[in-house]
Amino acid sequence: MTDLLVLGSGIAGLSAAIRAAEAGLGVTVLTKGALANTATSYAQGGVAAALGEPDSPALHRSDTLVAGVGLCDADAVDVLVEQGPDRVRELIALGANFDRAAIDGELELAREGGHSLARVVHAGGDATGAEIERALVAAMGRLEVDARERWFTVDLLVEGGAVVGVEAIAPDGSAHRIRARHVLLATGGAGQLFAVTTNPPVSTGDGIAMAYRAGAALADVEFMQFHPTALDVAAMPRPLLSEALRGDGAILRDERGVAFMAGEHPLADLAPRDVVARAITRRLVERNLSHLFLDATPIEDFATRFPTVDGAARAAGLDPAVDLLPIAPAAHYLSGGVCTDLDGATTIPGLWACGEVACSGVHGANRLASNSLLDGLVFAPRAVEAILDGRDGPLERGVLRGVLGRSGAPSAPITTVSSIGRATLQRAMTAGAGVLRDASSLGVLDATLPHDVAASTPAEHEVRNLVTVARTLVAAALARTESRGTHTRLDHPEPDPAFRSRLVQVRGAEPFLAPLPLPVETP
Ligand SMILES: Cc1cc2nc3c(=O)[nH]c(=O)nc-3n(C[C@H](O)[C@H](O)[C@H](O)COP(=O)(O)OP(=O)(O)OC[C@H]3O[C@@H](n4cnc5c(N)ncnc54)[C@H](O)[C@@H]3O)c2cc1C
Repeated sequence: MTDLLVLGSGIAGLSAAIRAAEAGLGVTVLTKGALANTATSYAQGGVAAALGEPDSPALHRSDTLVAGVGLCDADAVDVLVEQGPDRVRELIALGANFDRAAIDGELELAREGGHSLARVVHAGGDATGAEIERALVAAMGRLEVDARERWFTVDLLVEGGAVVGVEAIAPDGSAHRIRARHVLLATGGAGQLFAVTTNPPVSTGDGIAMAYRAGAALADVEFMQFHPTALDVAAMPRPLLSEALRGDGAILRDERGVAFMAGEHPLADLAPRDVVARAITRRLVERNLSHLFLDATPIEDFATRFPTVDGAARAAGLDPAVDLLPIAPAAHYLSGGVCTDLDGATTIPGLWACGEVACSGVHGANRLASNSLLDGLVFAPRAVEAILDGRDGPLERGVLRGVLGRSGAPSAPITTVSSIGRATLQRAMTAGAGVLRDASSLGVLDATLPHDVAASTPAEHEVRNLVTVARTLVAAALARTESRGTHTRLDHPEPDPAFRSRLVQVRGAEPFLAPLPLPVETP
C-alpha cells in the first residue's frame, strides 16, 4: 500500500509528490494523460508573489481580498501571500527558469489585472506554465515516485467513513483498485463544462465529481471565472490573450474602435476579470456581436515578450503589431471546488485536495490573476506537511467551520441514468450558466440536465463527471440569489450581504450557507 496516492500531475500534484518523496513517503502519481498534459502547462502570465520591495504580502493580500469581493477566507489568503514568496524561490531552486532582466539579472515582474503593482514572475515570456511543468517533471524524475501515465481514476474507495484508495482504469483498459493511506486530489478544474473555454480537454471536473459522490463537501462551485480575452477563433481550447498584455499597454476596444473600460472601472483595462468579462458580454449581447477587440499595437517587441500569443494570432492570420485581435470571454478557472481546511484536508478523513480542484477559500468570488499557480504551489506542500504531522483528516477551522457537522455519508447511487453528449452539455451550460445568468436560464438547465449518465470508458466517465459538476454548479447558482464576483444573476444584479457566506453542497442535501471564519474586510 502506498503512503500517498496523488491524482493529477499539474503544479499541485507534482508539488505534493516532490515534497512527499523528499520526506521519504512512498508516493504514487496517477494521471489520465501524459504527465505534462495539464492546465498548468498552458499557463501564460505567471505566478504572483510579493518577492520584495516595494511589494509586500500585505499589499498582495489586499488585492486578493478586493478581487474576491468579500468571500475570501482571510486566513487562507494570509497563508497564500505569506508563504508564496518562499515557495516561488524553492521552485527556482528546483530548476524553473523565470525571465530575468538583461542588465542586473533580477527577476522581471509583470503587472496584471487587479494587482496594484508589478508582482508576476513569468518564464519564456508568456510560456510560464510549460516551464514550471518541465521543471517539476524533471525534479520528480530525480526522486523515488511511481508515476503512472494514462491511468484514469474513476472513483474514490470509501470504507468506514474514510477514503482508503481509488478505482482506476489502466492504459490497457483493465480495472484496478489501488489502496493508499492518503489520497490527494490534484485533478484540476472543469472548464470543459462550457462550449468556449481556455482549458485543455483534461479539465473535466473529475476530482470534484468523485469527491461529491464519496460524500465530501463542495463549496462555491457557482464561481466559474470567465477570462475576458480569449482569441475568438475556431480552435478549442481557445488561445488565451493573457492579462499581461493589458499590463503592458494593450487596450480593449468595441466594434467601433472605442476604448470602453475607462467608463466601467477606475482601473480601466486592468479592472478585475469579472468586471471586464461582464463589460464585454453585455456589449456582445446588446449589439448581437460575436467578439470585441484587443488592441495590442502599443506593445513594443510583441513577438519577443509574448511568443505564445504571437504564435496563436499568426496561426489565425493576424499580426498583433498591426491588427486588432478579436476577443470574447471563455470559461477559465473554477474558484470553488472540494471544500478544504488550510492544510488541504477535505471533510472526509484520508482525502486531501489542492490546486484548482480545491476550495480553500483563497479566491472567494473571483480569483486574482496569477494566484492559481501560487495556490497549488503553496497548499500542496501544506497537505503533505499535515500528513507528515500524523493527521488524517480536517481541523475545524478555516473554511470548514460550519461545514463539518453537515457532511454526510455517501448517498445511494442514482439508479435512473440517461445519456448526453459532451458538446450538447457544453452548449446548454454556455446558454444557461455562462457569464450572465438568471433564474429562468438556470431553471431550464435544472429541468433538463440528466442527474447521472452511464459510463464505462474514460471518455464516458468524463461526461458523467461533467454532468455531476454541472448539476452542482446550477444548484449553487440558483441558490445564490445575488450577483457577486464571477457569479452574475441578471435577476439579482446587486450583492446581498446575507450571501456573504460560503455556499456548501453535500450530496443528498440542499445547498446551505456556511459562515466565513473571520470577518473579511469590505473591499
Ligand atoms: C490557458 C490558461 C492560462 C492560464 N494562465 C495562468 C497564469 O498565468 N497564472 C496562473 O496562476 N494560472 C493560470 N491559469 C490557471 C492555472 O494554469 C491552473 O489553475 C493550474 O495550473 C491548475 O493546476 P492543478 O495542478 O490544480 O491542475 P492541472 O494542471 O489542470 O492538472 C490536473 C491533472 O489532473 C489529471 N486528472 C484529472 N482528472 C483525472 C482522473 N480522473 N484521473 C487521473 N488524472 C486526472 C490531469 O490529467 C492533470 O494531470 C491558466 C489556465 C489556462 C487554461
